[in-house]
Amino acid sequence: MKIAIVGAGIVGAAAAALLSRQGHQVVLIEAEEPARHASFANGAHLSEGDAETWLSPVKLAKIAARNMLPAPPIRVRLSLDAQLPRFLWLVCRHAAKRPSDLLPRMARRNAQILSAMNAPAHLYHRQSSGILQIFRSRAAMRRATKRRQTAKRIPLSPKECAEIAPGLQVKTLIGGVLFPEDATGDAHLFANYLVRMAEENGAEILTRRAAQKLAVKNGTVRAVITEGGAIEAERIVLALGEKTAGFAWKNLKIRIPIAPAAGYSATLPVRQEAPAPEVGITDPEKRIVISRLDDQIRVAGLVDIGRQARLPDPKRLRQLLRFLHAYAPDAVDFNKPRFWRGFRPMSPDGLPLLGRLPGFSNLFINAGHGHLGWTLALVSADLLSQSLKLTGDQDEDGLPLKALAPDRFGALGS
Ligand SMILES: Cc1cc2nc3c(=O)[nH]c(=O)nc-3n(C[C@H](O)[C@H](O)[C@H](O)COP(=O)(O)OP(=O)(O)OC[C@H]3O[C@@H](n4cnc5c(N)ncnc54)[C@H](O)[C@@H]3O)c2cc1C
Repeated sequence: MKIAIVGAGIVGAAAAALLSRQGHQVVLIEAEEPARHASFANGAHLSEGDAETWLSPVKLAKIAARNMLPAPPIRVRLSLDAQLPRFLWLVCRHAAKRPSDLLPRMARRNAQILSAMNAPAHLYHRQSSGILQIFRSRAAMRRATKRRQTAKRIPLSPKECAEIAPGLQVKTLIGGVLFPEDATGDAHLFANYLVRMAEENGAEILTRRAAQKLAVKNGTVRAVITEGGAIEAERIVLALGEKTAGFAWKNLKIRIPIAPAAGYSATLPVRQEAPAPEVGITDPEKRIVISRLDDQIRVAGLVDIGRQARLPDPKRLRQLLRFLHAYAPDAVDFNKPRFWRGFRPMSPDGLPLLGRLPGFSNLFINAGHGHLGWTLALVSADLLSQSLKLTGDQDEDGLPLKALAPDRFGALGS
């Protein structure tokens, strides 16, 4: 089958690699170079342990209470744009409908697919020593240890945290939880590895070729129109990350509920003479993560939704550096940060939108992975391949494709 995939972030790249390996004739269409957007300098966590949604009515109430504080982890600024209130309304309406164990199950399957690929660890600076969640309050730690028990977890004292993460300052911590099966790795490097793999499988990789529109006739997409000409295919997959909603609105006049949520990172060189943590670290209350990527450490996180999210905010970058300084003051050279900002493609219920778009016989979407695109890209590619066959609404291993259907929030009209 000839399949055109629009967008070569980690999600589109994973789909191209998997589908071409299955013998499909794949064309991957990318406006720039692979993985230069949300998949570029993200938090690098492959985290089954943190595979849960950030948005729900209860969490929105908490966000609202902290919204005007100087440095809240998640900040929502309403604008005149009607789409954000609609998005928040969908968060409230759909939170309870989401199968609560689906994200961890998907993350687990992703880890299995990744492990079966046997990709050399050095290619993407993989660290497999687990991810450590750190806590400054007993209540937060209690909540975390009480949550679903799908992932293996080991509660640790502050002293034990310092033992597994040399260089970590633990004075303000009351403890941590280690997810020993989780890992970290560079999503940008891995996406490029997937693109090379797809190319070796015979896929055609078109970079610097923005998809401009879709040629549609009688509910069937005949071709993707790019600057360099029309690309015809039997199946078309939209994997444009946070740009998916704008593309669908402009070309098809359908509203896909994906909202951009800005986040930041700083990558700094490790100081060779001082100990630096190798294990991934997450502070779930502050929404900040730390990853070791070869001879560098990355600190990433914070969430800005709505008005001003498009404007870079130097205060957010300083917030990340302050965090890293508090927890690993000697580990890196603070004079040489490389700053980055990206947009997570958030869906209202935290699950990706994956499957055929109603009203079109051959148009599919694989987007909306929010803060977990790196953790879910491979399993999403696997589920997409089931979905492209148009055979049913449950995949072979029982993951419910229906729960990911793009129209689960209602009709996709204007
Ligand atoms: C600060 C931050 C930290 C994060 N940390 C983590 C983490 O630790 N773990 C994790 O799992 N996830 C993390 N994420 C989330 C993760 O990075 C995203 O979910 C993921 O990168 C989304 O991938 P994507 O391929 O859908 O989108 P993108 O990576 O944005 O890719 C979309 C691609 O589509 C292309 N495109 C757009 N328009 C067109 C067009 N018209 N024609 C052709 N191509 C087009 C773009 O150029 C881009 O390459 C983080 C995100 C941020 C911002």
